[in-house]
Amino acid sequence: LDPRPIEQWTRTTCGYCGVGCTLDVATRDHEIVTVHPASDGSVNRGHACVKGRFAHSFVSSPDRLQSPLVRRGGELVPVSWDEALDVVADHLRAIHRPDAFAVISSARATNEENYLIQKFARVAIGTNNVDNCARLCHAPSAAGLATTFGLGGGTNAFDDLDRCDAVLLAGSNPTDAHPVVGSRILQRVIDGARLVVIDPRRTELARHADVHLRPRPGTNVAVFNGLAHLLIRDGMIDEAFLRNRVAGYDELRDLASDYSPDRVSDISGVSVDELVTAAHLYGDAAAPAIFYGLGVTEHLHGTDGVRTLANLAILRGAVGTATGGGVNPLRGQNNVQGACDMGALPDLLPGYQKVADDTVRQRFEAGWRTSLPSTPGLRIPQMFDAARQGRLEALWVVGEDVLSTDPDTASVRAALDACPLVICNDLFLSATAQAANVVFPVASWLEKDGTFVNFDRRFQRVRRVVEPRDGVRTDLEVFRQVAARLGVDLGCATPAATLDECASLAPLFGGISEQRLDSDSALHWPCGTPDDPGRPTLYLDRFATADGRAHLAARPYLPPGAEPDPSFPYILVTGRRAEHYNSGEMTRRTPNVLLRADEPLDVEPSDAAALGLRDGDPVEVTSRFGRAVLPVRFAAELVPGQVFSGFHFPAAGVNELTSPLGDDVTGCPEYKVTAVRLRAL
Ligand code: SF4
Repeated sequence: LDPRPIEQWTRTTCGYCGVGCTLDVATRDHEIVTVHPASDGSVNRGHACVKGRFAHSFVSSPDRLQSPLVRRGGELVPVSWDEALDVVADHLRAIHRPDAFAVISSARATNEENYLIQKFARVAIGTNNVDNCARLCHAPSAAGLATTFGLGGGTNAFDDLDRCDAVLLAGSNPTDAHPVVGSRILQRVIDGARLVVIDPRRTELARHADVHLRPRPGTNVAVFNGLAHLLIRDGMIDEAFLRNRVAGYDELRDLASDYSPDRVSDISGVSVDELVTAAHLYGDAAAPAIFYGLGVTEHLHGTDGVRTLANLAILRGAVGTATGGGVNPLRGQNNVQGACDMGALPDLLPGYQKVADDTVRQRFEAGWRTSLPSTPGLRIPQMFDAARQGRLEALWVVGEDVLSTDPDTASVRAALDACPLVICNDLFLSATAQAANVVFPVASWLEKDGTFVNFDRRFQRVRRVVEPRDGVRTDLEVFRQVAARLGVDLGCATPAATLDECASLAPLFGGISEQRLDSDSALHWPCGTPDDPGRPTLYLDRFATADGRAHLAARPYLPPGAEPDPSFPYILVTGRRAEHYNSGEMTRRTPNVLLRADEPLDVEPSDAAALGLRDGDPVEVTSRFGRAVLPVRFAAELVPGQVFSGFHFPAAGVNELTSPLGDDVTGCPEYKVTAVRLRAL
């Protein structure tokens, strides 16, 4: 241990999962020494998980990129910043039409960077072809919640959990994916709240549940409609609330009448008794809350899943009131909520304002002193389609390793190969960076200033803990400098100025500034004016829809894109492991025995025995889209016929297997249902 004293403590916000824990980071000689969870952290109250506590040594990893790279003669070679910026600007100047450019932003970027990235696309290039990694996870939440309630965020603050007497947790394993949320839900259960878990796997929280429903993957909508049926049938609805604040009740009642417990049991495999028990645990509670995750969204009908789940809170009158825990998506990454909030979306400007709305666009045109395109741009899967079809001349990928994390790797690889210029901003030479023509080395969340928004709409400060590595710049600087070469001054010289500009154009964030966040520590949007304290709980007066009502969704169950058959008899579900973060570029570079070192395929023991597999054996996994080889891990938490894998080790090739099918409303991939076969090697 180094006996020298700590030189500085810096308070910042964890850049891994959507919980957004407040961390105090100690430094000495410009290096990170240790990380402590802040005891007065607004969301974590002195807790943090293994990633937030220990996975920081990636910052000083010798693998960090410290010079821009440009492809010459088939090889990526180091060049000066000026040279790389010129290459990109020259190419962008020569593209034949604005819509031949597209940019994929991400949660790796701060709010300010996301704001500037979408401004770059719209102002410097003139296209709405901007999207972010939420397309792959919670796009159905943004779309579904906005249609139902008016805004694309969770309805309640996380602290509302403290007054709930029942939690319905659907399609989420927060013990692994959002550990601080997982432990707070568990504490709430220990303190007496009832718990309903809906998840095919017997997760850690499922072990503590009063009832655990295990639907076949892809049948959520049937289960949620079945629960709605029971809430109505057994009188567990708030009739005054429905009369005064809700639209669409008659349509839902008619649809739900077709979802008897017997029929839902046939579709989903959930027993009638368990379904009835779950409905009463939720429906009889005084203050029930819903939390959900990617097990609801990453489906062919993910937006329907979000909306039919939200139906339960509306029927019960447990949203938009002081006595209900509402509907809360556990957003995957910090800052994926912020990437959406800042308008890194093809149809929405900052603050969820539609590009197709003339009044909105004119306000932005006046603020940005330019004319803006009115047609919504391409979503990420459409960008790849356009590239493969020769319609894209430049694709800029910021902080996303799309070759590792997007589904159906072979088709993503074909898209990158077909695009004349692929630009990549990253910390490391990721798979996507290796396929790019220009790579910019950029700063990590511990090396830059700005803000993040966590899963419950909470703006918090991100502070520079250490100076960026030599040769590294922030995403904000890179986009400003390319724009300048194109003759466009984007303004936004600092993160603080960028947030101020955003506040001036997006009424949802009108009262949010760095200055306030430095003194108040956190603010929930909507926050309209400098003296607005923000709104942790939404819709107490009215919903944000045009008519002020919550809109129930009468959506039928439709089957998933894949079903097991004799050729592909198992269903693969992918998800997070506690120790790693997405493609693992950061967490895998932390030399710590607590961090898992491989990507196993979880197989239920009786399935493994039938296949002659022992724990640790290699198994070949084949889907309709590709092949991978993984070591087997016995997993009694699975239902026979289902297998599970993380996605943190790109070399394992899990996304070679996953399906290109996506949610019929948002295009979010159907990661949770891939039909595969297994073969012992
Ligand atoms: Fe908190 Fe999530 Fe970071 Fe863990 S990864 S410390 S739970 S924000």
